[in-house]
Amino acid sequence: MKIVVATHNEGKLPEIRNIIEAELGQAAQHIELVSAGSMNLPDPVETGVTFEENALLKARDVARRTGLPALADDSGLIVDVLGAAPGILSARWSGVHGDDEANIDLLLAQIADIPDNKRGARFCCDAALVVPQDCREQRDDGSVPQAQEVARLGEMKGTIIRQRRGDNGFGYDPIFVPDNQPGRRNANGEKLTSAEMTAEEKNAISHRHKAFVALAPEIKELIG
Ligand code: IMP
Repeated sequence: MKIVVATHNEGKLPEIRNIIEAELGQAAQHIELVSAGSMNLPDPVETGVTFEENALLKARDVARRTGLPALADDSGLIVDVLGAAPGILSARWSGVHGDDEANIDLLLAQIADIPDNKRGARFCCDAALVVPQDCREQRDDGSVPQAQEVARLGEMKGTIIRQRRGDNGFGYDPIFVPDNQPGRRNANGEKLTSAEMTAEEKNAISHRHKAFVALAPEIKELIG
């Protein structure tokens, strides 16, 4: 079964495929993941005000255009003292979409006076699956499942530090120290930022990973 991933970032496909294979085992071989980018589908405008709304909106748009089941995710950083911010505005917090350096500079300036023990934050990700009614296969008992829309949340809690550390990852990774650490420290004996972790170390604890793991049973149900 073909499932379209609502992204123009090809790098997301192997990450999602690995999770599906780990969660579904042999059944995963019935799934072919393709990206919306490789099908030349446009990115919808993200008008939602929550991660869940935006993830569903993206998956719904792809499912409607292709008639195929679609997966999407939407994620961002929530800093405790800033309420829900940067939240859904994480990618463009400084005003320029995708300017990671400016986003970090602005965030650090905004919370400069906040003491170390009050700098809690979390990355959130909602992963969504939308299955058009036409794709729902008849069950053994003859009934046909409803068109389906489901979203699952994953979170990674941690702390915002004052200066960047590490070259891996993207976005706010250099200033985020996850609570859940691998069993090693950096060269200075400090806890690791998510930018100092390997991709494997971060994937094992990440919000995105948890969201897709939580969605795996729905994907399994889809392929029957
Ligand atoms: P997206 O929804 O995956 O495109 O993420 C939106 C924005 O949230 C990104 O541009 C980053 O600024 C931030 N973000 C989401 N996930 C992460 C992460 O794992 N590390 C660092 N920043 C992230």
